[in-house]
Amino acid sequence: MGCTCNSSDKEKLFCSGVLVDNRPGAVLPPQDAWEKKKGGYVIIECPQRIPCNPCATSCPTGAVVPFVDINDVPAIDYDKCTGCALCVAKCPGLACFVVDLTYGADEAVIKLPYELEPKPVKGARVKCLNRVGDEVSDGEVFAVTEPLKDHTTVVSVVIPKKLVGEIRAIKVVC
Ligand code: SF4
Ligand code: SF4
Repeated sequence: MGCTCNSSDKEKLFCSGVLVDNRPGAVLPPQDAWEKKKGGYVIIECPQRIPCNPCATSCPTGAVVPFVDINDVPAIDYDKCTGCALCVAKCPGLACFVVDLTYGADEAVIKLPYELEPKPVKGARVKCLNRVGDEVSDGEVFAVTEPLKDHTTVVSVVIPKKLVGEIRAIKVVC
């Protein structure tokens, strides 16, 4: 079924479930370490208690702190995050992203989940969307992977560094 959000719903929550704002409770890396971390760190934007835990159970290093209760809000031990993006592929809420700030002076790489067809290919130009689906920049696909071999694709996109807090989805342009 297509999206049934009305415009006021859209102001609060992007149709995919992506948060409209960097809300209190969203998990962000420590800035100094983030700027030097090759491969990037995870960002998790899932501040509400819901019965869901694949981010924690899929993380191979324990960087997503194991939940005591399935309703726990994700917490990250950034010393353990490798930027592998397994949680990006596994999260059913499309709430996990990895951002690598080391790509260039003005560019970063975001690894985001992509579940639509056609899949983008390496080198393709895509439209980058903010949390409410507005096009905010162009991006270039850096890599396309399927980390869990379960048909969930993680797309790495080169984006303007100044927009790492805004870009949360892409649109493939055929
Ligand atoms: S990116 Fe990899 S290491 Fe980091 S939290 Fe996600 S699954 Fe764990
Ligand atoms: S898997 Fe995704 S939706 Fe579920 S708790 Fe973790 S971040 Fe939230």
